[in-house]
Amino acid sequence: MTTETFESTQSREIISYDPATGEEIGRAALNGGAEVRSALARARAAQPAWGAISFRERTRVILQARKIVLAQLDEIGKLISRETGKPVAEAISMEIVPTLDLMHYFARHTSRLLQPQKIDIGQYGLMGRSSQVVYKPLGVVGIISPWNFPWATPLADVVMALMAGNAVVLKPSELTPLTALKIGELFKLAQLPEGLLEIVTGDGSTGAALTDAGLDKIMFTGSVATGKQVAAAAAKHLTPTVLELGGKDPMIVLADANLQSAARAAIWGAFCNAGQACASVERCYVHESIATQFIELVVKETRALKLDRATENEVDVGAMSNEKQLATVEEHIADAVKRGARVLTGGRRTRNLNGWFHEPTVVTQVDHSMELMRDETFGPVLPIMTFKTEDEAIKLANDSIYGLTASVWTNNIAHGRRLARKIDAGTVMVNEVVYTHAIAQTPWGGVKQSGYGRTHGRLGLLELVTPQHIHVNHLPFVPDVWWFRYSTGAELLFRGLARRFTSGSILQSSLLLPQMIKRSLERRD
Ligand code: NAD
Repeated sequence: MTTETFESTQSREIISYDPATGEEIGRAALNGGAEVRSALARARAAQPAWGAISFRERTRVILQARKIVLAQLDEIGKLISRETGKPVAEAISMEIVPTLDLMHYFARHTSRLLQPQKIDIGQYGLMGRSSQVVYKPLGVVGIISPWNFPWATPLADVVMALMAGNAVVLKPSELTPLTALKIGELFKLAQLPEGLLEIVTGDGSTGAALTDAGLDKIMFTGSVATGKQVAAAAAKHLTPTVLELGGKDPMIVLADANLQSAARAAIWGAFCNAGQACASVERCYVHESIATQFIELVVKETRALKLDRATENEVDVGAMSNEKQLATVEEHIADAVKRGARVLTGGRRTRNLNGWFHEPTVVTQVDHSMELMRDETFGPVLPIMTFKTEDEAIKLANDSIYGLTASVWTNNIAHGRRLARKIDAGTVMVNEVVYTHAIAQTPWGGVKQSGYGRTHGRLGLLELVTPQHIHVNHLPFVPDVWWFRYSTGAELLFRGLARRFTSGSILQSSLLLPQMIKRSLERRD
């Protein structure tokens, strides 16, 4: 039931399966190097015209595509749910709602966010110079995406890249090609000119062919292991790359936190998307004074969750998306139990359902020797550990190779903000978990092995353009004082520049004015 490659005499294909039932949903081409290169060539040919048109015209296409998403909301929700196993409700809340918002935001605001910026160049300005930065499209952006949010992750990058004037070649996960093809269909219906969004379906070999094809930027979202391969391949061509990789995100619950909210957030943060979110709560640290009460609440709320096929009513947790991930979950739990951890609820795959289901699991008596606390589990498991002091909690939170998001729970917001700064993570939430990926305006990305670069927000948009500095000398008839020839007077002036001009004081610099005028009028032959 994992995606298989399938060779027939005519073509090579990948098969997409429903992880809740094992049924085949459909097939897509397994594109090789030749197809990838042709897709890139079509994108390259289409981009200059798109890069030259106004933001208003690009906005029109994105808003048209947004309208089509709204019109096909149910169909798209069902498709995402079928390919991933997540409940339709979750497909809508975690994938479609955020992208509708993001489409609106970048359609409306990209022109403002990328407006040319004048730079204050200090005393050079008084010498009749000016500088501005303009933002130019990069050309063709390659987007390589994973299976856990097969709609939201690639679509956000596609919208931002297109609004910035680029063409895109998208390589979606081999487990979820149909959702990506739906994205392509959507932009076709919105009359995006041909070539601007090329979708190459396939497996890792297709992704590798794309990174090697000569892109202008790679936006990669996926595992650390593949991210390292992509970075190495990109280095060969010096292709700039954004890496959005895995996480082992900690949640710190302080003694003064609202316990009910913290418990609910912990289980949603750990079990939404069947725990397969890069920003899932993967480690929970609770102050020892409230641990018993907190754990009781968490276990009670966890046992109330409904685990079932997404087609059933009011399902909270659906199937995991693939067997490999389910096996990792089992391995981490087994390793933790072997080392002394206690499973309070869940702890096993669900035998009465055919697909890849794992019960939402709460584990205590864990420590950092366990895989469950070190490696990305990416499944519905919430390990809880206690701490005595805040310093200890911060140390535990930072004891990880990852640094994507983190959260601090406290009723003292100012204190929460102070602690947030001590945590090594791209995003730290105070009294929230997971969800800021849904905010179009805020940057998303990690530190340490969670990757580098950003997506979303202005910082994300800046990854998709080349900043160009344009500098103007408005007094071209006056020779610069630092040009040849270096007379004795020139050297004296340069010493003066070192002492006075670089002090940043206009008054000090003005004392050099007579020497500067003399130097400007000096014969230099
Ligand atoms: P993955 O690394 O296995 O695959 C990601 C994509 O890379 C797929 O499209 C795959 O076909 C492609 N690929 C595989 N080998 C390649 C190669 N050599 N060159 C180029 N492309 C190649 O990841 P996955 O299992 O699909 O996704 C799960 C991972 O993604 C988790 O670690 C999760 O944390 C991470 N993730 C991160 C974010 C984030 O924003 N930081 C968001 C979602 C998922």
